[in-house]
Amino acid sequence: MIGLNDAYGGPLRRDYIRRQALTLRYILGVEREPAPDVARILEHVLPELAPSFEFRVVPNGDIGGDGALTSWDPPCISFEERAYHELALAIPRARFTGLHELGHLTLHRGMVQARNTAQVRDVRDLNSVERHANCFAAEFAMPHDIIKDCKVPRDVATLCKVSVEAAEYRMRDCAMWPRGDDRQRIVDGFADLLKKLRSKN
Ligand SMILES: [Zn+2]
Repeated sequence: MIGLNDAYGGPLRRDYIRRQALTLRYILGVEREPAPDVARILEHVLPELAPSFEFRVVPNGDIGGDGALTSWDPPCISFEERAYHELALAIPRARFTGLHELGHLTLHRGMVQARNTAQVRDVRDLNSVERHANCFAAEFAMPHDIIKDCKVPRDVATLCKVSVEAAEYRMRDCAMWPRGDDRQRIVDGFADLLKKLRSKN
């Protein structure tokens, strides 16, 4: 089966991926929405903006992995029925899968790639197309401007309709989590490390 393994892509920097995700939000007219309707974007908004784009629902088992695939000629995102049903219900995992495929569509022109969490290979971060797509999905789903006042991962999860795990990962990435005592311990540990490094000079 094509594209179910992770693969090398050209190196893409995180800030480039962030700009692409935020620009696409703007183009789609959902710049300020905390939790855009991903099913509507794929089924209606994108085909209107880009008439060559197709969204397809295919029988269960046709794709495998997480049940979604990006392909080309014509540019197309396919969902298995089961995954599509979850997407229509705005289930966090299915939304993230939809945004992951949107990442491939935006970043990896010409490559056929499905989301398959179980088979992310040990490809260097900057080159892994799976990590690129996950990074794109996180930047699109949880822009810093929208989550900046959230206190705990559950706040982000509720606001942006993502899983608590994805929310926590994102908050750590933005240095928003952990807070309180845990954060202080990290800050103290870092201060210790700096002191040790200085004393070596
Ligand atoms: Zn993928």
